[in-house]
Amino acid sequence: MKEMTKDTLPDIRSLSMAELEELLLSMGEKKFRAKQIYEWLHVKKAVSFSEMTNLSNALRRKLQEQTHLVSLKKVEELVSALDGTRKYLFELDDHNVIESVWMEYHHGNSVCISSQAGCRMGCRFCASTLNGLERQLSASEMLEQVYRISAETGKRVDNIVIMGSGEPLDNYDNVVRFLQLITDPAAGGISRRNITLSTCGLVPQIRKLADENYGVTLALSLHAADDNTRQQLMPIAKKYALKDVLAACDYYFEKTGRRISYEYSLVKGVNDSAGEAEKLSALLKGKNCHVNLIPVNPVKEREFETVTRSYAVQFQNMLEKNGINATIRREMGRDIQGACGQLRRSYKSSAGSSG
Ligand code: SAH
Repeated sequence: MKEMTKDTLPDIRSLSMAELEELLLSMGEKKFRAKQIYEWLHVKKAVSFSEMTNLSNALRRKLQEQTHLVSLKKVEELVSALDGTRKYLFELDDHNVIESVWMEYHHGNSVCISSQAGCRMGCRFCASTLNGLERQLSASEMLEQVYRISAETGKRVDNIVIMGSGEPLDNYDNVVRFLQLITDPAAGGISRRNITLSTCGLVPQIRKLADENYGVTLALSLHAADDNTRQQLMPIAKKYALKDVLAACDYYFEKTGRRISYEYSLVKGVNDSAGEAEKLSALLKGKNCHVNLIPVNPVKEREFETVTRSYAVQFQNMLEKNGINATIRREMGRDIQGACGQLRRSYKSSAGSSG
């Protein structure tokens, strides 16, 4: 008989209700057990089968032996003294670590999740990509970031942003599975409208996501208004031309009716001139969209310099004068290693790991 390892056992927290029912039937159990287990996994956020007290001991043992229950272990939590933002480092079963962030805004509480351990997109200003992609995260590992944080804070999660480490559309199937579970009223119960997925611009996957229409908001990491500048900042821009990326975003808007959010990290001397503001305005003119300006968060391994807050306001005014709706992202948790992937990176290097 083939030896069953953790990797070959079904990852029970990643299963849909229908798949869970099928699994229970294949174990010779009654179908209604699936509903009870699903509730333990997604509503009560159980971390072990022993908690599932309305199941028999025999069934709990069977589940323990025949499935794999993913749960994340908190290894570090940093709380910002400035705004209550919390950064979490979680350990996965294979001892890899990922980071997630809790932010409190007046419009609700948000969790920012990672979609991959590491990233292979290579954006020049981003700390998450410095060591490449280590591995994809499963749907259960994405769900668990939300579930653990909600258990830790004891507060309701209103919004989810898939803007942590990783490129979500480079992990398409697991991300979609995550979206289905987190929006299922019987599971995560988060409204689709309150979920934002951020991508560096993988054109075929943006189109696929548009066709499948999960109703989430798309944020596109633009960061430049011409191909040449974009290629200096983002290697993926060599694969997909700006006009094709923007056409895919237009298509997303047509199919879903969701306004696109364009992210533009201001890098001093690279993409922040008045000329760039004009080019950006021309590029987005007439589109139903929103620009999110982010003064680049300097990463010590990279040479990029940021712009001042007052300059970011000037850049915003230049866009608004041309009728382009723009805001400056409020910097959250500035005192606790704000930028993507920085906390994970410093943890890994202090632990002496090569990753
Ligand atoms: N891979 C996805 C999501 C990850 S990062 C994407 O590319 O969109 C979320 C956003 O933060 C992206 O717009 C990314 O370009 C930006 N970002 C990453 N590192 C940054 C830094 N050091 N300063 C400012 N923005 C950064």
